[in-house]
Amino acid sequence: MNVLVTGGAGYIGSHTVVELLRSGHEVVVVDDLSNAKIEVIDRIKEITGKRLHFYWIDCADKEKLWDIFRNHSVDAVIHFAGFKAVGESVQKPLQYYRNNLDSTMTLLEVMEEFGCKKLVFSSSATVYGPNNPHPYKEDMPAIQSSSPYGWTKVMIERILTDYVTAHPDFCAILLRYFNPIGAHESGLLGDDPNGIPNNLMPFIGRVAAGKLEKLTIFGGDYDTPDGTCQRDYLHVVDLAVGHLKALEYAAKHEGVEAINLGTGNGISVLELVTAFEKVNNMKLPYVIGPRRDGDLPAFWADATKAKELLGWEATHTVEDMCRSSWNFAKNAST
Ligand code: UDP
Repeated sequence: MNVLVTGGAGYIGSHTVVELLRSGHEVVVVDDLSNAKIEVIDRIKEITGKRLHFYWIDCADKEKLWDIFRNHSVDAVIHFAGFKAVGESVQKPLQYYRNNLDSTMTLLEVMEEFGCKKLVFSSSATVYGPNNPHPYKEDMPAIQSSSPYGWTKVMIERILTDYVTAHPDFCAILLRYFNPIGAHESGLLGDDPNGIPNNLMPFIGRVAAGKLEKLTIFGGDYDTPDGTCQRDYLHVVDLAVGHLKALEYAAKHEGVEAINLGTGNGISVLELVTAFEKVNNMKLPYVIGPRRDGDLPAFWADATKAKELLGWEATHTVEDMCRSSWNFAKNAST
């Protein structure tokens, strides 16, 4: 298939592009590089030995997107492009709503004009909000969030669902990610955000590399076995393979499906820190600090639907995730 990947130079996007190329798909990447580095495109080529098309554009730029659809016969789209920093979204809600919603609607309009009817969307477990019990299942109400970032995911899921109601021959797969960590085994691709990382693993990577002094664990008094929050961490390469499976499913189906991508197991921040120290044979300086606003004590996926519908399940261990994260972080530029 000819697959357009928006945000394909980003953390999850780049790993997905590698898996697409490896499986013989033709890939067109669109990225405005607002939170990604141009080197990533060369690195993808280095890893796969394959060529791809890259356009440095904002996918909310309709004219430019239209040109891309005119020049490539796009069979399907994987839509990653979007702002993703939870804390920043609270400070800059308008930018988040404008960017994430505009880019999705522009994309849908252009897809419609060119008769492209297959979309895999990068959603998030944040759509389950604070009121559902875990493990989260896809049939629970996913209509809540605790940040403008999360609300953009809720809203885009709604937009896509309504769009499919109006166009029943369209297929939209809403992939609800849990906590992706880890990096490509080559050490060439990984999570390398601009500025001080918000997410746990890139923060750990910079502490381990001596670029940040210490990790602050947000809260040690939660009602969890060791008092720290529990999450469902999954390897980014497993997540990337999940996109490939979702694309193959979308090619043969119509309608809308929300699907969790997680391991089905929760581990705590302290357990992750300990696993990182053990597997990489180092000590990580950390302190237990106050809770972070908006954090839930614990959640993980019910991963049954992904297995049944897509034939997908996570295969990497926590140790694989910690080892590959450090293999990338020790050579990362920032
Ligand atoms: N966390 C932490 N220190 C950090 C960053 C994150 O203790 O510097 C914790 C956070 O409280 C949460 C877990 O790590 O329990 C995962 O946070 P992250 O931001 O990576 O993902 P989230 O689950 O919030 O989407």
